[in-house]
Amino acid sequence: ARALIAAGGAADIAAQALDRALQLAPAINALITVLPDDRVSNAGTGPLAGIPFVHKDVFCTEGARTTAGSKILDQFVPPYDATVVARLRAAGARCVGKANMDEFAMGSSNENSAYGVVRNPWDTSRVPGGSSGGSAAAVAAGIVPFATGSDTGGSVRQPAAFCGLTGLKPTYGRISRYGMIAYASSLDQAGVLARSVADCAEVLDVLSGHDPLDATSVDAPAIDISGALHRGVRGLRVGVVREMFGAGVRSAMADTVLQSLRALEAAGAVLVDISLDSLRHAIPAYYVIAPAEASSNLSRYDGVRFGHRTESAKDLKSLYQNSRSEGFGLEVKRRILSGTYVLSSGYYDAYYLRAQQVRRLIAADFSRAFGAVDVLAGPTTPDVAFKLGEKVDDPLAMYAADINTVAVNLAGLPAISLPSGFIDGLPAGLQLIAPAFAEDQLLAAGHALQ
Ligand code: GLN
Repeated sequence: ARALIAAGGAADIAAQALDRALQLAPAINALITVLPDDRVSNAGTGPLAGIPFVHKDVFCTEGARTTAGSKILDQFVPPYDATVVARLRAAGARCVGKANMDEFAMGSSNENSAYGVVRNPWDTSRVPGGSSGGSAAAVAAGIVPFATGSDTGGSVRQPAAFCGLTGLKPTYGRISRYGMIAYASSLDQAGVLARSVADCAEVLDVLSGHDPLDATSVDAPAIDISGALHRGVRGLRVGVVREMFGAGVRSAMADTVLQSLRALEAAGAVLVDISLDSLRHAIPAYYVIAPAEASSNLSRYDGVRFGHRTESAKDLKSLYQNSRSEGFGLEVKRRILSGTYVLSSGYYDAYYLRAQQVRRLIAADFSRAFGAVDVLAGPTTPDVAFKLGEKVDDPLAMYAADINTVAVNLAGLPAISLPSGFIDGLPAGLQLIAPAFAEDQLLAAGHALQ
């Protein structure tokens, strides 16, 4: 991104990004809203001065429509900025649009957006991944050098992998969630998609830090970005997680990821075979906890205070019922129903409480592993980007493909997806996971591969 600016001058680059957004974005449907009048940022001074980017439409932008991919927020114009938005603006970066996404960040293919599917720029018959699919497609198509995303169970890393990008999901608490429309609050974390580790690192540096407006944001020491990028991997112990190469992972995927790991080894890292037995429980635990929290978070969309309001209400109950029936899409309704079910009396102990116990086991398993290694590694996804429509009728197959990403959120850890070769012309992703607040190790290892 820096080289771009040096070559072209900030104002020119931003103007070119806008032209590209207007030309290219419609073909892949990457953007829900284009912001040509620079309402959400003014390119001035700062570490990212003049660099164009797009925000996932989950971040509230004062005065600019913010939909979260949902019809229920179709006309919603927030009266305030998310902290992520305010920080990027203060850094001088220029937001040229709001990126398409799965409704309320629920999905892995961007097929759950009320604003239409997004196409993968590498092969437009395929999905870009989700839920930050518009963010990934916009960067992969060359519209902007970076995009923001949010990652509750893989939504930054998986689309990064499907679109040949670097996608960084920081430690829970590293970046403020204030103004980021909630899906599952104990799992949600903002992240960055870009073309390199170095670009992700610069944006991470701007976004990170304690925010009094988010009680879960942590006052952690700043990451030594340039130190990390120049550290190399000599002696770095990389745990190759057996279960992440397990059943369902395509053998070509295992091969290309192992090849990237050998490159790390050649650069001085030590590969260690490691097992995380509890990973097999991650999908069921995640798909209990995330919908449970979602069902609670989404109760605020009642047609009264903001968002879509039905025109066919007879009384208060039908106002709620019809506004929500008309405003929410199928997958969101599915999550609200399953989330409400697992929280209801008689089922709470059997499902929600159980899932929370499993979550603890998973976190403990990771801690144990980090006693022996510095980072953990495996494929980000079991396979490359699938065809549009391929999994829409089979939600369980869609959920199952999140196998390697959701455990990271359950444990609150930082992780990164890095480009790792191609399979049949489509990008594959290598995921690295670090202990909480050890993003520097991800940056060091990732940069060594680029
Ligand atoms: N695919 C997962 C889900 O649908 C993760 C989404 C996300 O990280 N926002 O819940």
